[in-house]
Amino acid sequence: MRKPLMAGNWKMNKTIPEAVAMVKDLKERIADVKDVDVLICPTFTAISALAMETKGTNINIGAQDIFWEAKGAFTGEIAPNMLVDAGCKYVIIGHSERRQYFGETNETVNKKVKAALANGLIPVVCVGETLQEREANTYFKVIESQVREGLKDLSKEEAQKIVIAYEPVWAIGTGKTATPDQAQEIHAFIRKVYSEMYCCAADEIRILYGGSVKPENVSELMKKEDIDGGLVGGASLKADSFEALVKFSK
Ligand code: PEP
Repeated sequence: MRKPLMAGNWKMNKTIPEAVAMVKDLKERIADVKDVDVLICPTFTAISALAMETKGTNINIGAQDIFWEAKGAFTGEIAPNMLVDAGCKYVIIGHSERRQYFGETNETVNKKVKAALANGLIPVVCVGETLQEREANTYFKVIESQVREGLKDLSKEEAQKIVIAYEPVWAIGTGKTATPDQAQEIHAFIRKVYSEMYCCAADEIRILYGGSVKPENVSELMKKEDIDGGLVGGASLKADSFEALVKFSK
């Protein structure tokens, strides 16, 4: 049985006081939730404050990116052990916005995944096609390369620790959601590709759906066999809507 994971990607939103205020509210609202793992990924600047605020609660903290080197002359970057030091348990890697605006490739994703794992962080690796790729019918090929190249050369133990997030780029922040059937088709495909790479680890890893997930559509998505949670942008920014997502009912 895969335990669902509901993850909030706050992107470049909230100052430290705003982040702390929301988490103070959220932790009360979801204090009794035990059957879902909860993750908040704030900006780098708010990680440490949120890690302190969530100590001893059921809320985990993660980062939105990572660099693969341990230290040195890499202005502006954050090393894996620094994220651990600040209180992160997870890290989002290869989000489509990083691929689109900051030159992230499957190769850099792979380096980041390995560095995260080597430091005990759980990578949430994002894959997904653009609208153009969906319309050109090349999306299976694109997603397969993202999975095969971004997640190559892991040990058996490492392969079991990965979380994958399928996020069709055309559904991120647009209000357009993939239908539960469209999402399930790709989730099952990703699990099949992963099983060819790492055999039975594919049955254990969680595959999240991301792209305009909100309280109104979460339970239909979560009913699907291969959808193990959500990676949520907009609807994770308010305590009441994120509470509703965490408390989705199948
Ligand atoms: C995301 O940030 O990964 C995302 C899916 O955003 P939204 O939920 O706003 O579409």
